[in-house]
Amino acid sequence: MYYLGLKFLLLTGCLLGYGTAAAQRDPYEAERRQMVRTQLQARDIHHRATLRAMGTVPRHLYVPAAQQRFAYQDRPLPIGYGQTISQPYIVGYMTQIIRPEARHNVLEIGTGSGYQAAVLAEIVDQVHTIEIVPELGQTARRVLGQHYDNVRVKTGDGYYGWEEAGPFDAIVVTAAAEYIPPPLVEQLKDGGKMIIPVGSPFQVQLLMLVEKKGSDITTRTLMPVRFVPFTRASQDQ
Ligand code: SAH
Repeated sequence: MYYLGLKFLLLTGCLLGYGTAAAQRDPYEAERRQMVRTQLQARDIHHRATLRAMGTVPRHLYVPAAQQRFAYQDRPLPIGYGQTISQPYIVGYMTQIIRPEARHNVLEIGTGSGYQAAVLAEIVDQVHTIEIVPELGQTARRVLGQHYDNVRVKTGDGYYGWEEAGPFDAIVVTAAAEYIPPPLVEQLKDGGKMIIPVGSPFQVQLLMLVEKKGSDITTRTLMPVRFVPFTRASQDQ
């Protein structure tokens, strides 16, 4: 009797212990799975690597503590300094459309929270990301550094790209520019793709896909979006 009781105790102890540890490891796992199902798969996100990456990255770790419980909701969230982390669907859409592959080197302009960079880092070989607000760059560098060794974060004006780290298979711009910065087109590989919101601040902007084939540059308008503005270093002075 005593022996059986002890065994039972040990067994429940183990189960409880395991359950608690798993919940502590990731209390948002169920919400994240639901986000992938209802916000991505139920719409038009079907690229397997993108779905896998967004099902893996703990989005709640990329937002300020006060926003964590909203991290998996169907909307952008404030991350400080007047900036936002994009809505999950937009991240999925932008990731899927560049067709990221394991051997790729990708540039992101507008690190913000670091979430888009993390999603890319799950899929591709190298991610280079540039943020103009030093404090945001610093926070993102810290959280990304805890999970990835294939992401480099630089502080500066992304208009000029990152020439020494290029050329890039893809470029993801997550702030709305008035026009497509020529240095970014320059730093795309032959066959490379860039996704960028183009338009004036605080008006409807258009998400555009730019493709480079030899000396040919083609652009395609995808959908209306609303992003924070692409700021320039000189305007801050
Ligand atoms: N990709 C981010 C979205 C952040 S919002 C995420 O996953 O959270 C866009 C970011 O672009 C902001 O943090 C803003 O500060 C930054 N940004 C705006 N203009 C920029 C520029 N010229 N160069 C680099 N970053 C810029």
